[in-house]
Amino acid sequence: MKTLIMKFGGAAVATPQHFSRIADIILHRKKHYQRIVVVVSAMGETTNQLIALANEVNASPPRREYDMLVSVGERISISLLAMALAAKNQHAVSFTGSQSGIITCQNHSNARIIEVKPHRLIPILDSGSVVIVAGFQGVSRQGEITTLGRGGSDTSAVALGIALKAEKVEFFKDVLGICMDDPKIVPESPLLPHLSYDEALKIIRQGAKVLQARSVELASKNKILLHVLSFQNDLQTTQSGTLIGNIDVAREEIPIYEE
Ligand code: ASP
Ligand code: MG
Repeated sequence: MKTLIMKFGGAAVATPQHFSRIADIILHRKKHYQRIVVVVSAMGETTNQLIALANEVNASPPRREYDMLVSVGERISISLLAMALAAKNQHAVSFTGSQSGIITCQNHSNARIIEVKPHRLIPILDSGSVVIVAGFQGVSRQGEITTLGRGGSDTSAVALGIALKAEKVEFFKDVLGICMDDPKIVPESPLLPHLSYDEALKIIRQGAKVLQARSVELASKNKILLHVLSFQNDLQTTQSGTLIGNIDVAREEIPIYEE
């Protein structure tokens, strides 16, 4: 069965109105893929606001409590997206990182993914429903809620793609793809249609905030294909975006996670 992971970042879910737009993009993909898992980030500036809130109470909050607070942002997004899909007659079920079986180390606020056990997601996917997962978070073997570091939803999406043997992971951004220079600063900068993992990592390490570096490292180890494209484009036009990885290279059979 063909599986697709779609990841929407904070800009794609900035306002309540954005959820309906995203739901349309998901419904469009549902015609071509039997199983769809959507990973979402917190709305707009929500994570920054939650961190500021924590700092108002304690300049150096206990890291367990920090994770308990900041993981809430993604939980708002998953439930709203499931509601937006329901409004369009597509059944969808939202899950936290913990419920999705994203197991991490104990390093609060910068945890690494040890393994993914998506048992609960599979029957929902096989019934034709869309699964929506809160990015940026997991659970330690001790049962504590952890977060993956800023921008960590990208890594959640790749880890789920590996666990569910997805055809690829699509990242919906407010830019057309990865460009030679930051398109928000140099608008005419040419789009790069295809990059190797190493080329993408080089661009990210030079400061481009297009994907969390860890997500590309994880994809590279498992050879899963990534696709960066715009959520603002017309759905009917074939979007090129930027492909990262190689379509012809065989995937790793046994998942390799972060540690
Ligand atoms: N919401 C989290 C952050 O802003 C995670 C993410 O966006 O990927 O860092
Ligand atoms: Mg965010």
